[in-house]
Amino acid sequence: MYLTKRLIREHIATGEEIWLNALSGAIDKLSEVEVALVERSLGGQRGGGSLIARLRSRGYLFDNAADEQSRFRRLVAEFGREQHGAVTHLVICPTYACNLRCVYCFEHRSHPNLPREMMDIDAVNHVFDAFSRIRRLYPSRNYALGLFGGEPLMTSTRFVVSRILSRARKNRLPVMIVTNGVSVASYLPILEEHQSDIQALQLTLDGPEEVHNQRRPDAAGRGTFDAVAAAVDILLEKNMHVVLRVNVDLGNVDELPRLAKVISNRGWSEASSFSCSLAPVKDHLGSGAIPNVPAEADLLSALFDVYDRSPESEKIFGLKGLQVLGQLSALLGSGGSSRPKIYHCEANHGGFWVAGPEGLLYACPEAVGQPDLAIGRYTPAFEVWPQRMEPWMGRNINTLNACRSCEVGPLCGGGCAYASLAGKNTTPGPSCAAGLARALSVYLSRRAVQSCQGKKVRVRS
Ligand code: SF4
Ligand code: SF4
Repeated sequence: MYLTKRLIREHIATGEEIWLNALSGAIDKLSEVEVALVERSLGGQRGGGSLIARLRSRGYLFDNAADEQSRFRRLVAEFGREQHGAVTHLVICPTYACNLRCVYCFEHRSHPNLPREMMDIDAVNHVFDAFSRIRRLYPSRNYALGLFGGEPLMTSTRFVVSRILSRARKNRLPVMIVTNGVSVASYLPILEEHQSDIQALQLTLDGPEEVHNQRRPDAAGRGTFDAVAAAVDILLEKNMHVVLRVNVDLGNVDELPRLAKVISNRGWSEASSFSCSLAPVKDHLGSGAIPNVPAEADLLSALFDVYDRSPESEKIFGLKGLQVLGQLSALLGSGGSSRPKIYHCEANHGGFWVAGPEGLLYACPEAVGQPDLAIGRYTPAFEVWPQRMEPWMGRNINTLNACRSCEVGPLCGGGCAYASLAGKNTTPGPSCAAGLARALSVYLSRRAVQSCQGKKVRVRS
């Protein structure tokens, strides 16, 4: 008999153990006696019949390692088939310029020499020609258009944005706009004109007024809370879908309850077209240029302290924005997908094609403006550079050696490709999130204890 490699065990205060099976999605609480029974059975002794049968049916125990590998391979193959219908995001950055000076901005802090070009109408035409070619290359996929930056909704980009939205309509592409929100009011006529094509706008609010203003001032140092909050009000009033992003780190995590109050006092949480998610601030380059960036475990501990004090905050913000723990909490039934994470993000299966104003194409929105990470170009002619694409595409827990046998592999997916590639000359390998084991331990001991009590978790076959 063989015990799965994808098993995460957590001893809890009662002397029991939480067992989490990252591959099958099962989670169980075992007493000391049961753990001892399993260990004896693994050592070849008889006994524990019904317990052993249950653990087999929940994917913890196999006849041998080859049996587990064959289940793993089935899931990878299933995942490969699913990619044919996956959504591919065709993203346009009309400019890398921005009218805010956020204290943690990855684009401007880590890359102060970003290209200064701004797209013109000619560039937009080239981008859409390139996107048509991409769609012909991968005809079975579904496509959506994203507007990203810098800040896409600025006075200087109005004409170009208007043209992009018209082309999106002509190409029947649903649109997602990622904006800091400060110019939404002046863009309203354009947004309303294209309302039926706009799937959602993502705006960012980092806390109650003084917290947000300190973290996300404009270029003149003035606060932007009022403009963003007014933008959310007006978009919801117009029935447009708003995704509110909260960039969270150790500098603002304690302020979430006050932000939750803002969200409920303004009636946003009542609106069906409103959703909200946390995004931990990251320093993928490890440059140290971004302050307050926590390991996921430290952020999680702080977050659970906040959620224990304010259950309302947990209802509003949840955990789904946290890469590994979001996957884990989805697995335990708090929403989202419960499929194993064979790859880390869309960048690993050609799910992003990001066009920058300098004429280059990128596989990941955070890689924009770094020509050494470009995977092709859309002008003067459309080109894809296979050698540059290779490290991004097909990167998953089956293709990365270290991930194939990693216990948390199906929760992690192999880690962020950008973090493994950027600023390094070595062959990109796995990109293990710092403190992941500790973060899982925090999660299992503080949340999963309740989640697995009497809960029937669906087990993948
Ligand atoms: S990146 Fe690291 S933590 Fe993630 S699956 Fe690979 S080896 Fe495991
Ligand atoms: S590669 Fe990393 S930075 Fe890029 S989209 Fe994926 S998770 Fe985000």
